[in-house]
Amino acid sequence: MVIRQVVNTVFNSCSYVLSGGGVSWIVDCGDVDLLLPLIEGQLRGVMITHSHFDHIYGLNNLLALFPGIRVLTNEAGREGLLCDKLNFSRYHETPFVLDAPENIEIIADGDNVNLFEDVSAQAVYTPGHSPCSVTWQVGNALFTGDSYIPGVKTVTNFPNSDKRVAQLSREYILQLAQQGQVYPGHPAQSEVEL
Ligand SMILES: [Zn+2]
Repeated sequence: MVIRQVVNTVFNSCSYVLSGGGVSWIVDCGDVDLLLPLIEGQLRGVMITHSHFDHIYGLNNLLALFPGIRVLTNEAGREGLLCDKLNFSRYHETPFVLDAPENIEIIADGDNVNLFEDVSAQAVYTPGHSPCSVTWQVGNALFTGDSYIPGVKTVTNFPNSDKRVAQLSREYILQLAQQGQVYPGHPAQSEVEL
């Protein structure tokens, strides 16, 4: 599996393209024009770490190009994709609501999704930053979104954040990270707003 990172123009959020065996998956979706050159073979879907708008704002553009792809998130993430108030885009220049709710596939804590022939992703529920936060574990790669960014305090001042729960999630991710590589939702030690 090859993992490539994109740093998006909105809040320096990070997206990743995972490719192997003629198939690609994306983790979080910002600037589609930056993602497109990195997609190898057939794009199957997007794994959402959480539905804050800086991690999802490119989804409608992506779905216009790839209408059949799967959008993986949990129930709280689905609500965020479908509500500009919950995903906070309402308070920024371009309110975002997902055009194609039928593409959403609800995952739960511990669910496995087959990505490539011999590679699966496991959804690890890591709430606190947001009630919809998921860390995607793919082999020893951990896509942590904003639940854990090395060197950065987890942001918990959103209306539906929970500081104590975020700390528990962070500790759990740190345990997993002992045998893994972290791919965070923003560059490590970034100074940007999350
Ligand atoms: Zn966030």
